[in-house]
Amino acid sequence: MIEKIFEAGVVGCGGAGFPTHVKLDTSADLLIINGAECEPVLKTDRYLMLNRPTDLLCAIEAAAAHLGVKRAVIALKKTYLEEIAALEAAIKSSGSITELFLLDNFYPAGDEHIVCYEVSGAVVPPGGIPRDIGIVVSNVGTMICVSDALKGRGFTHKYVTVAGHVPQPIVAHVPIGTSVAECIDSAGGAMDADYSVVVGGPLMGAVISREQAQTEPVTKTTSGIIVLEKGAYLQNISQTGIAHMLNRARAACVQCSFCTQLCPRHLLGHPLKPHRIMRKIAYSGLTPEILDDEDVKQALICCGCGVCTQFACPMQLQPDKINYIIKKEYAKADIRYDSKKEGCTALPQRDYRKVPSKRIAARVGVLPYYDQEMGKPVEYTPKKITVPLRQHIGAASRPVVTIGEDVFQGQLIAKCPEGQLGANIHAGIGGYVSAIKNGKIFIERRQ
Ligand code: SF4
Ligand code: SF4
Repeated sequence: MIEKIFEAGVVGCGGAGFPTHVKLDTSADLLIINGAECEPVLKTDRYLMLNRPTDLLCAIEAAAAHLGVKRAVIALKKTYLEEIAALEAAIKSSGSITELFLLDNFYPAGDEHIVCYEVSGAVVPPGGIPRDIGIVVSNVGTMICVSDALKGRGFTHKYVTVAGHVPQPIVAHVPIGTSVAECIDSAGGAMDADYSVVVGGPLMGAVISREQAQTEPVTKTTSGIIVLEKGAYLQNISQTGIAHMLNRARAACVQCSFCTQLCPRHLLGHPLKPHRIMRKIAYSGLTPEILDDEDVKQALICCGCGVCTQFACPMQLQPDKINYIIKKEYAKADIRYDSKKEGCTALPQRDYRKVPSKRIAARVGVLPYYDQEMGKPVEYTPKKITVPLRQHIGAASRPVVTIGEDVFQGQLIAKCPEGQLGANIHAGIGGYVSAIKNGKIFIERRQ
């Protein structure tokens, strides 16, 4: 199984793209398949649970057997009624050992640490991973890729939610490397000529411009494409410069500590206190000395969920972005979080401080798209694709094709470097290699 997953180039679809053949090559007590899809508007995993439940269960059974787990659980929200019914029917007819765990409708229910705590009652240590407490977490989209890999198919296509300011929101099934703009066209095109786009979810995704959407490709980790109307809140907030952000933190942070009180990781008992980080950075600036500060070091365990910024802060400051900038400084200095792997206890007030999904969707201006009716899924094949060689955690893949070479759909075009963490890459369309440059392979269909 591990060999097939490696050959197919499967990486985590829901996060940073950790290679799945490494994640599953272990033993564990509990396997959690994350179907929370907690970012508002996204519906990709819901589509897969509804339409490919049998494939999902087959992959879970195979992974559960390999890991030797005592329990395998799909965690999804109790509001996903159709998906629950589809999975229950598939579990019954297949006799699968998989259980369903129903989560409340809060954000970020799908954060790996949160879902572990909700299902098992155990807290992943700060800076640790679920495996530290005997749990492996994968998501629904990844397990569908595992199911395809077990049938000998490479990870060539991606299911992507295309929603927001478009006439017909859809789940598109497109070759990896398809441009974001073409995905938007397959949903009827943007309804505003001067649009921008969130790639990913509205809370944790990246905002790009209309021009960038023409060339930005769908990758193995792209979960959603949300079109924003002109002047949307998310577009405006994404344009705040670092200096301005730091100045505002200095001038306007009232130290109310709401950011800490509502921080999902803090509520799990982790020593992350964003209000203290804001205070230190506001007074001292981002100096090399400040990186030695114990409070500031806790930025390394921030998951970037955005609750502090988008929901908690009454002064419209951006603690999540400040943490992001600090993390980049630590990365430059090659400083990692010193995880003691000690257990934590979730705070008793946690249950009363879960952020309702609809409320946070309203705060970031995507409430009109929250319950959008999805049209029929669309299969789209572009004339050309742009395939990045690094779509995952680890080393960039190495091309095994040359410029001008004909390739068929599904052909291996780049390999994981020998002995390193990484993933293979396969062609999503047949055609010829028109260029290899800037860390990307370009493939065009022959006329
Ligand atoms: S983004 Fe904010 S709320 Fe989320 S984990 Fe980081 S500090 Fe906490
Ligand atoms: S919520 Fe905003 S104002 Fe209050 S402490 Fe946090 S950053 Fe400062």
